[in-house]
Amino acid sequence: MAHYAHPSDRAPQTFGPRQQALLSLLCEADVELSGQELHERLRQGSQRHGLATVYRNLRLLQRSGLVRCRKLPNGESVYAPLERDEHHLTCVSCGRSEPLPICPVGTGGLGLTKVLLQGFKPLFHTFELHGLCSSCQQSEPLAHG
Ligand SMILES: [Zn+2]
Ligand SMILES: [Zn+2]
Repeated sequence: MAHYAHPSDRAPQTFGPRQQALLSLLCEADVELSGQELHERLRQGSQRHGLATVYRNLRLLQRSGLVRCRKLPNGESVYAPLERDEHHLTCVSCGRSEPLPICPVGTGGLGLTKVLLQGFKPLFHTFELHGLCSSCQQSEPLAHG
């Protein structure tokens, strides 16, 4: 009797409608979306997605190198399609996050060589500067001396 292994824990090569729906929502939005926001938007559609399913599919899309993720100062993760190579200046006081007009890392990914990567396969990078925005600097002048 033939025994077929069922590799259900492995990522499928093709995406189902749930992953596609997530990816197109992220591509249509011009801002990063949290799992909660994606869940809200999906609820308006015809398909039913539980919040846990949304997070599981987001991990799957990340693992496939299609979606990037970064953490906001409040600990919430936000997602964007990988081709949107965006970086931010984040204020630690008011929490505002302004996009940086360029990617300081560059397409070469810091020029890391195969030797330095030691078999690691880079999918995406994050780069973020934390500090005080100009309005917070004015309202909270730093003490001198
Ligand atoms: Zn601020
Ligand atoms: Zn970048």
